[in-house]
Order: sequence, then structure tokens, then C-alpha cells
Amino acid sequence: MIKAVLFDMDGVLYDSMLYHVQAWHETILSLGIDSNPDDYYLFEGMTGHATIDILFNREYGHGATEKEKQTIYAQKSGRFVELNCEPRPMPGAKEVLEIVKQSGAKRVLVTGSGQPTLFGNLDKDFPGSFEKGLMVTSYDVKFGKPHPEPYLLGLEKAGVTAEEALVVENAPLGVQSAVAAGIYTIAVNTGPLPDSVLSDAGARLIFPSMAALAEKIEDLLVKINPSASHFSLL
Ligand code: CA
Repeated sequence: MIKAVLFDMDGVLYDSMLYHVQAWHETILSLGIDSNPDDYYLFEGMTGHATIDILFNREYGHGATEKEKQTIYAQKSGRFVELNCEPRPMPGAKEVLEIVKQSGAKRVLVTGSGQPTLFGNLDKDFPGSFEKGLMVTSYDVKFGKPHPEPYLLGLEKAGVTAEEALVVENAPLGVQSAVAAGIYTIAVNTGPLPDSVLSDAGARLIFPSMAALAEKIEDLLVKINPSASHFSLL
């Protein structure tokens, strides 16, 4: 029986990735470093500091200092706010959250984000969906995705085992993190990358959108038996 469903935030609950990509691309360009917008879909899920380290390593052959990481991430977060976007809740997300609630399973947020504006929106857009004690953000973790730490912490906060949980993710590194934590992982491919990067990362099921998942989630909550051998669908 599924006792908790762990949700990633950007690209799953919010249609916010385009803005994150723009804010990252512009911030990094302002430092004189060129990057490809698709990079950020591949980096998606890791902490901002880890992303900055990768970009620095690629450009300069060494990571960024702690101060540089703080300054650049603050700049990126500021740019995200300046873009004045109202990230839209992903169509279907509210329905999925409601069906999970009706099933009696806990709803847990597990995000690599540390974007304060988005957390403010969560309670407005998805009222009562996530209790304070059932949220894992970039402030809670040391390693971040693709390390299993964030999802292991999510399980711990929910008081459930990996076999009693499901994850909904959209990013390859997020899927890797959840799979490394031993959790049956459903991917929603809401970005530009091909499905194959999500299945290669270990996603067991892939849906094209949260709206498509909303049509199946009730059934899946009953039918998926993560403790069955090879996590197969019964
Ligand atoms: Ca995501």
C-alpha cells in the first residue's frame, strides 16, 4: 500500500522551468560564461550551488568559492523574481494532489530549489497540500539530487519506507536521486528532453504531463506494488 507520494516542485507542480532557465542563462552570461539553455534541463534538480560548480569547472577547470556560489545564486534568484513571472501551477497538478489526499497517502515536497517566492506561492496555489514538516528543500540537504539524500530525507520526514512510497519527478537527475533512494519513480516529461533520458535514469513509468498522470494516478496508487520483485506493476 502506498503511504506517501513525494513530489518534486519545478516542472512537476509548477510550469516554471522556462523562467529558471532564462534566469540561469542570463546570470551566467553576465559573468562572461556562455551556456546552452538545454544544460539547465540536464542540471535540473541539483542545488544552485552544484550547478554553479559544474559551470565553473567547465569554464575554468575549477569549482567556485563558497562566496561566489552565494553571490551568483542570489543573482540568479533575483533575476528569476525580476522576470516577474507568475509561475503557473502545472495543469493537472492540483488534481493529482487531491487524488493522493483522498487515498490517504501523505504528500511530501522534495525540491532542490531554494527560491523563496515559489514557497510563498505553494500555499496559495495548493492550499494545505504540504505541511511544513513534510517539505525538503535545498536548505535541508548537504548533497542534493542526484544523490539519494533528499528523497531519503523525504521518506524519513513522512515516516515511511521506500517500499511504501512513490515519487513524481520530471528531471533526469531527480529520477536518479529517487531511484537511488529505492523508490518507485514516475516521470512526467514536461520539458524538452526525450523520454529516453528519463527511462535511462530509472523512471518506471513516463507520462507526457501532470494532466495525463491525473487520469491514472488513482488506479496507480492501488495497483503499483513497489515491494514486488523488480518493482513491477501487478
Ligand atoms: Ca524538477
